Amino acid sequence: MRTIVEIIAAKRDGDPLTNEEIRWLIGEYAAERLPDEQMAALAMAIYFQGLDARESGVWTDAMLRSGRILDLSALGPGRVDKHSTGGVGDKVSLPLAPAAAACGVKVPMVSGRGLGHTGGTIDKLESISGFDASVSIARFEAILADVGCAIIGQTGDIAPADKRLYALRDVTGTVASLPLIVASIMSKKLAEGIEGLVLDVKVGGAAFMRTRDDGRRLADGMIAVGERMGVSVVAFLTRMEEPLGRMVGNGCEIAESLQILRGEGPPDLRELVETLGGAMVEIAHRVPADVGRARIAQALDDGAALSRFERMIASQGGDLAAGLPAPSGETVLRAPRAGWVSAIDGLEVGLTAVALGAGRRKRGDAIDPAVGVRVDAPRGARVDAGAPLMTIFHGASGPPSPDNVARLAAAVTVAGVEPEPAPVVLERIG
Ligand code: URA
Repeated sequence: MRTIVEIIAAKRDGDPLTNEEIRWLIGEYAAERLPDEQMAALAMAIYFQGLDARESGVWTDAMLRSGRILDLSALGPGRVDKHSTGGVGDKVSLPLAPAAAACGVKVPMVSGRGLGHTGGTIDKLESISGFDASVSIARFEAILADVGCAIIGQTGDIAPADKRLYALRDVTGTVASLPLIVASIMSKKLAEGIEGLVLDVKVGGAAFMRTRDDGRRLADGMIAVGERMGVSVVAFLTRMEEPLGRMVGNGCEIAESLQILRGEGPPDLRELVETLGGAMVEIAHRVPADVGRARIAQALDDGAALSRFERMIASQGGDLAAGLPAPSGETVLRAPRAGWVSAIDGLEVGLTAVALGAGRRKRGDAIDPAVGVRVDAPRGARVDAGAPLMTIFHGASGPPSPDNVARLAAAVTVAGVEPEPAPVVLERIG
């Protein structure tokens, strides 16, 4: 076998890695015997040169086998999860897992933290006082049996190679690599002992996949890996240009999720929860997608999903009654002229939210759960000059710098013509 330096150089020059080399690399990295600088260089080489179908399959399998593969068959049939490739304001998992559980789906969700400019479900949940995203696997199983859903972060047990690599990619500009995303998502998801998986593949300027073609390729890659492992996979390509819903941050995204769980909240977010949840019910109960969707809608409207959410949070030590982190102040950005909000650059909003403290700039950074951005005038809104466009929630470090305010203001376009409506769900694959 080649040495590590030869392996990095080979990939840099576009040569394939052998199965043995891939298994060795992942094993060494998970065991902390391969230093971050060498894995970072290799990740960058993969970012530029890619992995072919064989390398991608072996890489995913090695990451999956770096940890434990759960056997949740004792929970019975209907174990289905959902995963998103990452977006701005994407809090779908928070209302979706309990809504699906209220419809009889078992949802063993292993989620990530913020990655690049996108937020992470675990960071959001940790803004609830006492919430424990690292309960033991035995406790995870007990909560699943009782409540029907539980959301944990990656433990040392589940795909530990991805846990390390995910954090490394976050701070080395190597997130948006198709084979690394396939391996990262599928290694975590296949370790969950699920029978079905619904994928939300985000496409657009604020997603890791910019075009629908790239989104399709990513979806096809994940479907192929899932099917090889006997898991039914359905993917949706969904729009990720402006933030999803109105809130971007951590605590404020929990607040917006609670609105959805009360049958309220922004229509784009509700639409996505119904579509993805409908597909989860469809796979778990073998019913048509529209029947699944109607059941999810009912669970959101009649309080069944909210009650599951409250039980899940309490079972994981969280105290919703303690309230969410309060901002230390607010800065309102106003429309420079009258017109229609024709575009909101979600990538800029996500990057600014990270700069304000809602995400990490380097590994191990603390995030401020009170920091956030609220979109007051979504795409398509008619505004008068001076009307609020966005509100920045300040965190512990106080008001934002003038640079960050200017950057966020520049992310909104107010035009003289009304934009065409843009559907959130673009296409279903599988
Ligand atoms: N979500 C993941 O879990 N991993 C990625 O690489 C990207 C999004």
